[in-house]
Amino acid sequence: MTQKNIAIIRNVTDLRQTIAKWRAEGHSIGLVPTMGALHAGHLSLVTKMLGQTDKVIASIFVNPKQFGAGEDLDRYPKNEDADCKMLSETGAHAVFIPDCASIYPEGFSTNITVAGLSDDLCGKARPGHFDGVSTIVTKLLVQAMPDVAIFGEKDFQQLAVIKRLQQDLDLPTKIISGAIVREDDGLALSSRNAYLTADERKIAALLSATLKQAVARANAGEDLRVIEAESTLYLLKAGFKAVDYFSFVDANTLKQVNDLSGQTRVLVAAHLGKTRLIDNFAV
Ligand code: AMP
Repeated sequence: MTQKNIAIIRNVTDLRQTIAKWRAEGHSIGLVPTMGALHAGHLSLVTKMLGQTDKVIASIFVNPKQFGAGEDLDRYPKNEDADCKMLSETGAHAVFIPDCASIYPEGFSTNITVAGLSDDLCGKARPGHFDGVSTIVTKLLVQAMPDVAIFGEKDFQQLAVIKRLQQDLDLPTKIISGAIVREDDGLALSSRNAYLTADERKIAALLSATLKQAVARANAGEDLRVIEAESTLYLLKAGFKAVDYFSFVDANTLKQVNDLSGQTRVLVAAHLGKTRLIDNFAV
């Protein structure tokens, strides 16, 4: 089935057939995995991939394995028609939209764990989350065997976990990343921003503002633990319900750092009403 110029593929057999045909024609293949409810951040990944490979395929799958009990799996926004239209207009060649039963058929028993990198930060706040991410991403990479796959820096820990699993499993796909796309007031685009009330939406902008200020303070030589503690307190006073972490970490190991001698990143996850938001900046 097609919508405008985009092929809509719903099962692995058709996915592999399409890709085999492209390969026979000598094309390189890029994959852009998503959970749908697409926005300009997702589309920036598609656009970047169009500069890297001949054919670009996006995937849309709301992966139940990466949601914990009581999280937003049931209310996660879905808009398949609008997503396909946006992908088509952006220039993607195909979209893979498998159903859950075909991804996780009866008896599915395999789990991919990337130890260490998955343990802290979002991994600590959302037990099992990165196993779910690692398992679905491994499946998608094996199903499509793309030359390149792209993931956003918005989910910085996810990106590190995926780079690790690609190396560890010798998967023949190059992993690249895309910069964070933001609203004018600095809020990182996210499908979950749709949950925010008008009041929360105003407060949400403080997340990136606080990160930015933390970067400036760190570069001015202030103690990183003090910046983390004061930034956390500031967000709580501003109306965030809980801050899962506000941490300066090594950009490769994701271990908390005491100084800026290595490549450093500052990462935050915080709850605003019923919405959990994450963001990060390079230091
Ligand atoms: P999701 O649909 O939330 O699973 O995201 C799919 C991909 O888009 C992931 O690689 C995300 O890191 C990436 N992404 C999400 N939001 C943004 C953003 N604001 N800017 C750039 N990439 C993003």
